[in-house]
Amino acid sequence: MRYLVLVCFCLFVVQSYAIDPISKTIAPITKTAHQPKLVIGIVVDQMRWDYVNRFKPFFSSNKGFLRFLNEGASCNNTMIPYVPTVTACGHTCVYTGSVPSIHGITGNNWFDNVKQRTVYCVEDNSVQTVGSTNNSAGQMSPVNVWTSTIGDELKLASNFKSKVYGISIKDRGAIIPAGHAADGAFWYDSKTGNFISSTYYGKTLPAWVNNYNALHRPDSLYNKNWNLSLPNAVYEANCDTDENAYESTPFGKDAKHFPYSLKEFIGKDYGKIANTPYGNDLVVEMAKQALINEHLGADSITDMLAISFSSPDYIGHAFGPDSWETLDGYVKLDETMAGLFTFLDQKVGKDNYTVFLTADHAVANIPAFAKKHNIPGDNYDDGALKTDVIACLNSNNLSPKLISAVSEYNIYYNHAIMDSLNVSYEKLTNVITNYLEKKSLVLQVVENRKAAIAPIPQSMREKIVNGYTPQRSGDLMLVTKSGVVDGYPTGTSHGVLYNYDAHIPLLWYGAGIKKGTVNGVTYMTDIAPTVSTLLGIQMPSGSIGNPILEVLK
Ligand SMILES: [Zn+2]
Repeated sequence: MRYLVLVCFCLFVVQSYAIDPISKTIAPITKTAHQPKLVIGIVVDQMRWDYVNRFKPFFSSNKGFLRFLNEGASCNNTMIPYVPTVTACGHTCVYTGSVPSIHGITGNNWFDNVKQRTVYCVEDNSVQTVGSTNNSAGQMSPVNVWTSTIGDELKLASNFKSKVYGISIKDRGAIIPAGHAADGAFWYDSKTGNFISSTYYGKTLPAWVNNYNALHRPDSLYNKNWNLSLPNAVYEANCDTDENAYESTPFGKDAKHFPYSLKEFIGKDYGKIANTPYGNDLVVEMAKQALINEHLGADSITDMLAISFSSPDYIGHAFGPDSWETLDGYVKLDETMAGLFTFLDQKVGKDNYTVFLTADHAVANIPAFAKKHNIPGDNYDDGALKTDVIACLNSNNLSPKLISAVSEYNIYYNHAIMDSLNVSYEKLTNVITNYLEKKSLVLQVVENRKAAIAPIPQSMREKIVNGYTPQRSGDLMLVTKSGVVDGYPTGTSHGVLYNYDAHIPLLWYGAGIKKGTVNGVTYMTDIAPTVSTLLGIQMPSGSIGNPILEVLK
């Protein structure tokens, strides 16, 4: 009996302590001095840093890019510290603060040495498409990312009360930034013209997404065609000629210059809109709907909306950095972003949100354009590399089956075939290296595992080390000479370690951001630690960067 009384007393004590601090537990756990209600992350797919300067005179509204430059902070020398400089790796680095060797996203696609097949960065066959009959378009999730993201850490810090969403034209541009614990990610289905998702996030699309899709906005935007925003003289004075044989023709082989007619795609081809600035309008319209309907930034618990503008990448690939299309695309993106920021000022309040803007990678000049001006430039794509490697093996009486894949300039050995044919790693490496290093466009071949001692400048071998993980990388990495593009005879591409692909903008604006310019070198991996510091939350698990203290109040 005495024992029972003691137990009861103890229970009373425990219970009373549990009840007592209720008022404290409802309040947010930690708050930094300038903690915003909302973080907006913007990735402009393929934006080179120099566009900030080159296009500055043509940003007319003070509310778009100029808002960052006049009222916020600009890190002018932000570099990507790994290869390959492609979309999936870039979005993952921005939101994890980490590099492919740690977060596992070694390309948009990679040959998986464990699964022995090519894997797409966000593929996930365990989930189903939501919002489309196009079944393959939605079997996507962030499961292939090995580390946590800013959004995941924000969720953990708020006991999952923070809301986190991702929106983009590209699936990977929405899914990876939103993170593992996201409330939703929505991307564009080029077959139907709708924004879709996957069962990873929920069984059905939210009503507001269905309502937005029902507006058929791609049709009304196609109806406007693509006309220039500024007088022709501006483009003539600041760009290459409008029509060039080395530009691609995404709107049909006879559509070679402005104005571009888009009306004929209504009801017929919803993929074309990604190649126009209107792709950015779709993303901002969806972002506004998400802000309203998911009540983002409406209370003191910080939410995050990750936006990725994919259209600049499609436009850039087709027409290159010096084209009328690229300049006009950024003039229009400036207006589109101004509309978003004005909306945020009204909905969330000017001092209540923080925005960062960066790019997932930059881009090379179109090789033929560079050559026209006697600047080094050429093409050597993965297909040509594979052909050369096979020719090399044939000429040395070795089986082509010794190579599993060639992707992002990585050469993947088939180790099982090597064992069965009794071909040593050293022999295969020597044969391929000696052959490729005689090619005029090749700088050198690096053994990925030994990249840390490769005889190239330290900052470059560090990029190779940071891009390598045994399960998802090749055995050899081809380093081309500067200006060589892994692309096609028309248009351009990106993916290598040189500055034209690796130097990206990094702009900050809003709550907690100190106005100014940072000219010292910063890295893409510093973005997530900076946001974590601003929010007073844990850095993502694999983060290797440092907070950029100069931009924080
Ligand atoms: Zn691209």
